[in-house]
Amino acid sequence: MLSQVTRHFAGLWLAALAVGAWGAQAPLSVAEIATGVFVHRGAVAEVTRDNGGDIANLSFVVGERCVAVIDTGSTAAIGRALLAAIRQHTRLPVCYVINTHMHFDHVFGNVAFEGDGVRFVASQRLPSSLSARAEGFLQRVGDSLGEAAEGTRPVYPTELVDTVTTLDLGGRRLVLKAWPTAHTDNDLTVYDERTATLWTGDLLFVEHLPVIDGSVRGWLAAIDDLVALGARHVVPGHGPVDVAGSDGLERERAYLSHVAATVRRAIRDGRSLREVIDAGESETVAEWQLVEAFHPRNLSAAYTELEWED
Ligand SMILES: [Zn+2]
Repeated sequence: MLSQVTRHFAGLWLAALAVGAWGAQAPLSVAEIATGVFVHRGAVAEVTRDNGGDIANLSFVVGERCVAVIDTGSTAAIGRALLAAIRQHTRLPVCYVINTHMHFDHVFGNVAFEGDGVRFVASQRLPSSLSARAEGFLQRVGDSLGEAAEGTRPVYPTELVDTVTTLDLGGRRLVLKAWPTAHTDNDLTVYDERTATLWTGDLLFVEHLPVIDGSVRGWLAAIDDLVALGARHVVPGHGPVDVAGSDGLERERAYLSHVAATVRRAIRDGRSLREVIDAGESETVAEWQLVEAFHPRNLSAAYTELEWED
């Protein structure tokens, strides 16, 4: 009993340290991967009290006139810690907060940036997809984090991207592209022309098993386009902060192709989803982290999608 209690309080203490629940918000650590391009690396993990929900890569880009933020984290506290990191590097105002898609670990820190003149930018399809899931997301973050999630609520985009849009930060342009359904139905990528840096959002997972919440077929098609872009710096949604020149997209393609092939074979042979999940897994899957948490869900998503394909 005593050791359980001790562990419980140790967990709370770590969570408090992680998100600075007591006193001023400690800034997130960031790496400058190219001139004026800063990225915080989130843990490859699910949300726990120990990591305080700090599980996605979060970025900011500094122009001559203002700053753009790309994804804001799972909680209001993480958003504030990202803002504190920005203030360590520039006094310029934040003019844009860009969300790469509606998953809570990318959008729930938005609330920390609300204020005069800040424009929130996302795919045209984000508002409906986020509102359909917001309540469940809030519940999950609250249950996992308790007080560390205090003040967290969804903040919706004020500007929507239907195809391609360019934002000007003063001497620096970001090109935003909304994608057909892939990881989700509202994926958005960002490209900084000055440094040829590409933010894939969760169209690219590294180390963390890719999570299908949209279309495995659409995602495989998107990977072809992302490979063709040939960016100088590549920031994935999860994993190391710059994976340019790595085989990240090829590994992701191998995993998603494996899921699609496994499910198509099972459907052809008349096997149920349960049988597919119970069949166990191959080496293609074993190299990833968080397989237990996400692989059965991916099989389920793919099974639903592919069951009725021609
Ligand atoms: Zn996601």
